[in-house]
Amino acid sequence: MTASPAIVILGPSALATARRIQALYPQAVIHGLSGRVEADQAYDDFGDTLRSLYRSDTPIIALCAAGIVIRSLAPLLANKGAEPPVLAVAEDGSAVVPLLGGLGGVNRMAREIAAALQVSAAITTSGELRFGTCLLDPPSGYVLADIEQGKRFVSDLLGGESLRIEGDAPWLEQSKLPLAENAGRTLHITTEQRVAQADELLIHPRTLLALVGSADDLAARIGRAFEQAGLAQQCLAALLAPQALMTDKQLAQAAADLGVPLRFIGADEALPPQLQHGENLQLLQAASPDAAQTIGCPRGRLSVIGLGPGAAEHMTPAVRRALDEAQDLLGYETYVKMAEPLRDDQVRHSSDNREELQRARHAFELAASGRRVVVISSGDPGVFAMAAAVLEALEESAAPAEWHAVELEVLPGVSAALATAAKAGAPLGHDFCLISLSDNLKPWAVIENRLDHAGAADLAMAFYNPISKARPWQLGRALDIVRTHRTPDTVVVLGRDIGRPAEALRVLSLGELTAEMVDMRTLVIIGSSQTRRFPRGDGGKWVYTPRSYPQP
Ligand code: SAH
Repeated sequence: MTASPAIVILGPSALATARRIQALYPQAVIHGLSGRVEADQAYDDFGDTLRSLYRSDTPIIALCAAGIVIRSLAPLLANKGAEPPVLAVAEDGSAVVPLLGGLGGVNRMAREIAAALQVSAAITTSGELRFGTCLLDPPSGYVLADIEQGKRFVSDLLGGESLRIEGDAPWLEQSKLPLAENAGRTLHITTEQRVAQADELLIHPRTLLALVGSADDLAARIGRAFEQAGLAQQCLAALLAPQALMTDKQLAQAAADLGVPLRFIGADEALPPQLQHGENLQLLQAASPDAAQTIGCPRGRLSVIGLGPGAAEHMTPAVRRALDEAQDLLGYETYVKMAEPLRDDQVRHSSDNREELQRARHAFELAASGRRVVVISSGDPGVFAMAAAVLEALEESAAPAEWHAVELEVLPGVSAALATAAKAGAPLGHDFCLISLSDNLKPWAVIENRLDHAGAADLAMAFYNPISKARPWQLGRALDIVRTHRTPDTVVVLGRDIGRPAEALRVLSLGELTAEMVDMRTLVIIGSSQTRRFPRGDGGKWVYTPRSYPQP
């Protein structure tokens, strides 16, 4: 399956089933009819939504009557090109009906969903029913050489022909295929490159590995090596390279262009037998597609991500993707919970541990062993959060060389100051600064000095970590300093749990503000001398700082 599926629902009664399906495909987005149900994404017109998903080749799981889906997509069905899987699922989860996309794996999806919902899928494809398998849709690790030829082959079998299997096809052991020794048709599982005969079906196992010494002209060299050996390039399971090439960008690009994983081998790693040698490249033959995937170790990846303030819709798609691809997740327990839905196979290293450097080192150790690791912060990871700690751990002289070979990325998120500002209007519409009032990691005198200068410079200010049980007096002292620069009618915004269920926004004046109104889940914005407020239609207040500043 290429794109992640869209789960489309019409009302709240389908939401529970939709979430169960989403647990199976964590990247799936639930589309809900606007005004009727609160989902991941709102739509206005059911038919238009379905058609645009279909056109963009997105697998569709519609939780409604099959008839509605059929009628909506009917205008698009005439030209039978590539089509995404389309399924209708009863909103109570009692029926799963694959409708379209037989070659896109719709029956496989139907079975997966049905298994998750503990019902059986309504499979109607004759070949599949008769033979208990779809020959044209082999499992991962195997590719069909030619689909058109394959369709003829299956219709011959349906017409009464029998077949024999040559080669290893473990997934067909339980099938109900009409096998016979002297059959007129043959299913070949082979790495050989050749044009299929009329009486055979060719399936290529992905069992070949290319061990390469450099990225130069790689695609062409691989093409030639396969051609000279008479092997089908569809059998290429992965590129292997020495660990010294782990950070080689060209090599990574070549693997991506070839659509195969890239893995690295240690100096004394045992390798499968060699088939062909030439042009600084060897083709190796693994025993099976599964075995081919266990040779070498991928380059590890460490993504330092920001979840945004809380609501899923304020998380960037890049962050959602990193979370979905992660094998290990590290962070405070609350943030790891905020990253749900996660799968059972994803390892959660959640802790109350405040030792950020230690967590960063742990993340590097995991990533250096080839794992895909995510370090989770709320808001933006670079704002009083893990990104700086991760870089500090990497720069330490004690950091092993393998840590530097890890693919490290920092993915931004919507920081609390920006989320709070947007709720209130645009209080940070002119120059501003972000200050953490926590003196855990810096001397209080530095904070006082910065507050004094920010006040004198007439910057709007956003305070992070404004107060806590261990730091009860600091906020009051900070406000005293601010008050030496600002009048009591200066506009203040308090955002608490912004983007979360308990969200609360308050607009008041500096004169009214007391430390008791603030806790550690609050973001405090102190306006500049120019920050203004005015009534909103709904009774609240808009706050903004004008773009222009008065001339002296
Ligand atoms: N990296 C985070 C900030 C971590 S510091 C970010 O970019 O948002 C923690 C402080 O951020 C809290 O004490 C609080 O002041 C603020 N904060 C974080 N999330 C918040 C939210 N959802 N609503 C209001 N303030 C929040």
